[in-house]
Amino acid sequence: METVALPTASSSAPLALRPLSRAGRPVSLFDLTLEELESRLLAQGEPAFRARQLWHGIYGDLCDGYDAVTTLPLPLRTALADDLPFGTLATVREVATDDGETVKTLYRTFDGQFVETVLMLYPDRATVCVSCQVGCAVGCAFCATGLGGLTRNLTTGEMVEQVVGAARRAAALGRPLTNLVMMGMGEPLHNYAATMKLVGILNDRRGLGFGARRITISTSGVVPRIDALADEPYQVNLAVSLHAPTDDLRTRLVPLNSRYPIAELMAACDRYVAKTGRRISFEYALMAGINDGDDVAQDLGELLRGRLCHVNVIPLNPVDVLPYERPDPAGIERFAGIVRAADIPTTVRYSRGVAIAAACGQLRAEQSAAS
Ligand code: SF4
Repeated sequence: METVALPTASSSAPLALRPLSRAGRPVSLFDLTLEELESRLLAQGEPAFRARQLWHGIYGDLCDGYDAVTTLPLPLRTALADDLPFGTLATVREVATDDGETVKTLYRTFDGQFVETVLMLYPDRATVCVSCQVGCAVGCAFCATGLGGLTRNLTTGEMVEQVVGAARRAAALGRPLTNLVMMGMGEPLHNYAATMKLVGILNDRRGLGFGARRITISTSGVVPRIDALADEPYQVNLAVSLHAPTDDLRTRLVPLNSRYPIAELMAACDRYVAKTGRRISFEYALMAGINDGDDVAQDLGELLRGRLCHVNVIPLNPVDVLPYERPDPAGIERFAGIVRAADIPTTVRYSRGVAIAAACGQLRAEQSAAS
């Protein structure tokens, strides 16, 4: 395991001097759509093409600061650096697996919070897993992030900056960033507007041009927002963190289930599929002696039989402070086999980077304990 401490911030000017949003958070370059950036520069007497040059600099050339956007005149770069932070996240730690194929980055936000991003390199793709909140209100029983509840939503800019940071990291390794999963800290559908603006910025062909089909938004089951997502113009993928096929068990593991029980959740998923024609992924964190029994696998198969879906069985990454364990390999395969026998396409996916605390919220929890 390699641990690298990198004392970097994207911009040198103090954030305290910068304009704040109505929520009291600094607005950064990564918060803005191209149209918003054009309006801002036009208001400063700059031609619109300067916005497009800057946009290409950050999303095309993956510049890491205004100084690197050399297509802009120096006085404009200086003025922008005084007016609009290039970014607001500072890298605290980067931890990579020995093979370098999984890199976890811990960021400090402008207000001293910690968030995590994971870059995963596969032979055919490079995927970033982005956090959308500091903490999480859902409080899943097996998740380190949910332990302290929700502190705040991340801004669009804080999420876009995670993606661009991962794109730079991948580019340095000679790889394009190809996929985005909103499966880091937080519940994306509890931060809906900022998440959808993120999708719009990333999807813009004049910038990163990230195809919506390469973006997966996960949810623990926020039913009204699943309906809203089905009405969005973007063809993003939906992953539902199911983890149990019955209400008793699911409410114990995912407390939000008491508000949106399985029947309501499944009805929302059916409406989503009917409206979009897109297959849903059901995520299933497998825990020894909790939700891995043969009878539970049969119930899961019955629940999902006939639905346009795929199941990802994810053997749990154990967390020191929580009493949940990963089943043994034979138990994992037996569970997946029973679900498959119900004609449900099922894949066992091992989370990347167990050795580097890559389970959701672990690195942040370590940092918070040390601070
Ligand atoms: S698993 Fe996801 S939804 Fe559940 S508490 Fe953790 S971050 Fe929140």
